[in-house]
Amino acid sequence: MTFATLGLIEPLLRALETLGYQTPTPVQAQAIPAVLAGRDLMAAAQTGTGKTAGFALPLLQLLTMEGPKVAANSARALILCPTRELAEQVHASVAEYAQHLPLTTYAVYGGVSINPQMMKLRKGVDILVATPGRLIDLFRQNALKLNQLQTLVLDEADRMLDLGFSEELANIYRMLPKKRQTLLFSATFSDDIRLLAGQMLNDPLSIEVSPRNVAANTVKQWVVPVDKKRKAELFVHLMRKGRWKQVLVFAKTRNGVDALVDKLQGLGINADGIHGDKPQATRQRALDRFKASEVQILVATDVAARGLDIEDLPLVVNFDLPIVAEDYIHRIGRTGRAGNTGEAISLVCADEVNMLSAIEMLTRQTLTRKMEPDFEPEHRVPDTDASGQVVKKPKKPKKPKTSGGGGKRNLGKWVDSGEVAPAEPSIKPVRKVPVFNTGPRKRK
Ligand code: AMP
Repeated sequence: MTFATLGLIEPLLRALETLGYQTPTPVQAQAIPAVLAGRDLMAAAQTGTGKTAGFALPLLQLLTMEGPKVAANSARALILCPTRELAEQVHASVAEYAQHLPLTTYAVYGGVSINPQMMKLRKGVDILVATPGRLIDLFRQNALKLNQLQTLVLDEADRMLDLGFSEELANIYRMLPKKRQTLLFSATFSDDIRLLAGQMLNDPLSIEVSPRNVAANTVKQWVVPVDKKRKAELFVHLMRKGRWKQVLVFAKTRNGVDALVDKLQGLGINADGIHGDKPQATRQRALDRFKASEVQILVATDVAARGLDIEDLPLVVNFDLPIVAEDYIHRIGRTGRAGNTGEAISLVCADEVNMLSAIEMLTRQTLTRKMEPDFEPEHRVPDTDASGQVVKKPKKPKKPKTSGGGGKRNLGKWVDSGEVAPAEPSIKPVRKVPVFNTGPRKRK
């Protein structure tokens, strides 16, 4: 199959040739004809599958072939993205595909001044890529009208809900013309996403390019149990032992990113970090340097790393497990791409046992545990498996060890083998979908 047989017009084929795309990926092969035929789409596809071209190519073709010229302060197609990184990335791809077409494209997102964006929108743009919050601001300030909108794309819809954009999406839904084409892309399909799709889409074609919620099987995954306070030490130990070259490391919080980067830099290790508190230019610089192999270790939060197009990483390390289990799939999706093998190592402490259990349940596998000599945890990580069970051993009274009993003597201190530290953040934050949440929820 070629892009020509999918019915794409010559200026698009020329752009694809320049980019070196020879064969459509599975999501493209399914999405392109459906979008050209005017269908709504509900696509299960994550970053790395070629989903951007899957919606952008037919969208550009439709906008070129049909519809009126764009009016002032209007957009003919809107692509909603969860983060500004993804918005910029999607916009860059769209602009490349559109290089031989007489169409205008632009990206708007928060965290930067709104005025230049308002100026740019005066003449109208054919394709607008936007994050939800900034889109609403522009709409409310009359810088943007949506009555000319032909197509709406929701990119990484699951992430938009995870980031708490459900209210914004509900507001945007009210701003849209009733007659439009809607394409929804999501790596995972939770009940909330299905609810959103039910409201937004009209008789959608469902396409799925990888098994639902199953992590890539080209990625070798395992867990190293460790005490929380020794994670950084273990990371450095594993890095030296395994002679790691380039590693993307995920930490849960911004502070966590900074602390690990400081520690690694203090040891003379070439590390940098990206998170939402850092200015966009700094983040981009760190990423560019990582891609150019000038930085060996890049530590990131999920939000900052989301959608980043880093090709073919050999290794991803979860310094902390993600709070939302689906993020585990996104994280490890950074390695083992395009049939290459990759490794994903998670450093897991007792506090994280519920998260580990949720990940195993979601990915339908029990992750192999490998104890690292000298790093055996004082606080045991209870057994887990793909059924979602956390096997807690019965609590034993704290007392100095005298004989038997299954506890471990460590640094002269009695440690209950079933002890799990409290105050665990919930695995899946309860998400509200205000407007969309109209009926009883269907359970899978
Ligand atoms: P995406 O999943 O849209 O983020 O795309 C992942 C990467 O694959 C991007 O770097 C694209 O430029 C690239 N890509 C998308 N489609 C193709 C194709 N048909 N052939 C080769 N590369 C592609």
